[in-house]
Amino acid sequence: MQITRVHSRVVELKLPAPFHPAWARGRNQATILLVLVAVETDAGIVGHTAAHAGPEAAIAIERFVAPYFIGQDPTRIELLAAVLRDAEILGPPAYFMEIALWDIVGKRAGMPVYKLWGGAQDRVTAYCATAELRTPEQRVEDVERMLAAGYRGVKLRFHHDEVRDDLKVVEAVRKAVGNRMEIMIDANQAGVEPGLTGHRIWGFHRSLAVARELEQFDVLWLEEPLPRDDYDGLARLRDRLDRIKIAGGEDNHGLHEFKLLIDRGCFDILQPDALLSDGIFQLRKVAAMAEAAHLELVPHTWGNGMGLLANLHLAAAAPNCPWLEFPHDPPSGFTAASRDQMLRETLSIDADGKLRVPDRPGFGFILDEDRIAHHTIAEYG
Ligand SMILES: [Mg+2]
Repeated sequence: MQITRVHSRVVELKLPAPFHPAWARGRNQATILLVLVAVETDAGIVGHTAAHAGPEAAIAIERFVAPYFIGQDPTRIELLAAVLRDAEILGPPAYFMEIALWDIVGKRAGMPVYKLWGGAQDRVTAYCATAELRTPEQRVEDVERMLAAGYRGVKLRFHHDEVRDDLKVVEAVRKAVGNRMEIMIDANQAGVEPGLTGHRIWGFHRSLAVARELEQFDVLWLEEPLPRDDYDGLARLRDRLDRIKIAGGEDNHGLHEFKLLIDRGCFDILQPDALLSDGIFQLRKVAAMAEAAHLELVPHTWGNGMGLLANLHLAAAAPNCPWLEFPHDPPSGFTAASRDQMLRETLSIDADGKLRVPDRPGFGFILDEDRIAHHTIAEYG
């Protein structure tokens, strides 16, 4: 089998209402932008993937990936993973391309990818990842609806000017849900956006003080309390805490960086993303390294339903993935339905709050081709 064509479509899908992500102050997001990629083969099998990105990703594929993929056997993924590592040296990351290759392998084998990688679970517990800042009263209303829908966990954002105001939201939510729901907190301190858009930079002492406050509310984990390369700070923070876990890694890239995060004792929970962090099978290796270190892996996902599905297979494959991020923050424009517009069906939890992995070959993507055709703004390849 040989790869014959790599075809990219840049797609811009409208959100039904305004969306103001807490981690990017001032942003009023009106659309979801993605690059849908089809890797075609001479066997008639087509592998799909989607970048959480715009035309820059399509151009990177054209320049740094497609010339090295075409003519190659798509099942020789460890050879092609090297192409993707080099692509990041030369241009924007293209790690999402490994998903299309595994989609081909799964289709060729007639098996879902998660079963090829261990098939530890058929369902993964989803936590409802919110994105906007809301008042305590609004968030209590939100979590009452989440509980009724079956969610077992909710993640809140900490981006008020005064952290005291963030803590008031947690206090109100904990009072409302009692012990019926886990609460996770994301500080989004690992990347550049808090530095450029007016967010408060925490630093070590604030992170420690906040984490200790969160322990009073039985918060399960604190995510990204410090910059992504503050290995010493993260390890010191983790050492000083008794009950709350420290999570992160969505902004770190590469197998070897994740080994470093594990070896330096930075996190209890690693959160790589199959669209962003490295090739998806490279992250299956990260899950194994985490397992050997008695750590958990809870994939990050945001942006689009194809990324959620890919990360679902990764989480279902390994024995140490207790949760999966499920981006959904009604009544803003970013909900499960808007997130999954490129798919024919919206992914949803069952009565136990779990996401079932589709029992279809590959990743089980079923694209809404009519909608995609209508919203395609550029094509490459
Ligand atoms: Mg996060």
